[in-house]
Amino acid sequence: MTTATISKPSPLDLESIQKLVHQGKSVVSSEDSEMVKWAIKRIKGGEKMTLYLKPTVFDAIERWYWTPERMQLVGLEPLTPQLKKKIKNDFGIKIDGYANSLECPRCSAQYSTYEFIEQGIEQHGGDIVRQTFSLKRAAVLQINPVQDIICRSCSLRLIRAARPGSIRVTYHYNYSCVERNAYACCESSILGPIIAATVPAASK
Ligand SMILES: [Zn+2]
Repeated sequence: MTTATISKPSPLDLESIQKLVHQGKSVVSSEDSEMVKWAIKRIKGGEKMTLYLKPTVFDAIERWYWTPERMQLVGLEPLTPQLKKKIKNDFGIKIDGYANSLECPRCSAQYSTYEFIEQGIEQHGGDIVRQTFSLKRAAVLQINPVQDIICRSCSLRLIRAARPGSIRVTYHYNYSCVERNAYACCESSILGPIIAATVPAASK
């Protein structure tokens, strides 16, 4: 099941909801704070889903999830201006934010935002990828996504350890693009012992 979310107090667009339901989706309307708590429970529980969220709800989840410790654990780094420019030139996508970088243990090629977008375009087509990154005032949150991160040079599936004897780390990202758009992932695998004690409220 894919769940789309429309929160109060915006008036409900019942026609759009009907369309989504007819496409086989479920729509949940809830208070922001309830939505934040619900999503965090799904992240912790390892459930796999995509949420389409209003920016304030996304921000609350994002602040809870991306602690400095977790950013360091997976090696989350800001995109460089050069990379942003290259992605804009090559794919026509305006992107900003953070991602980690994986080095292929076989051929040493790097995998990060450029390669992720390139792989996404190959798998899903350029139109849908560009549309996703150009949503306005809507955040796409991939919760525990099943991702095959494949080396672009030698086709090896990429994973690495955070440190010797530690957890497996795959590709992580927290992108923001245009007008409060976001495209991000949250994974239970990196929560480990550093789970925040309190759940933040979504700001209004
Ligand atoms: Zn490789």
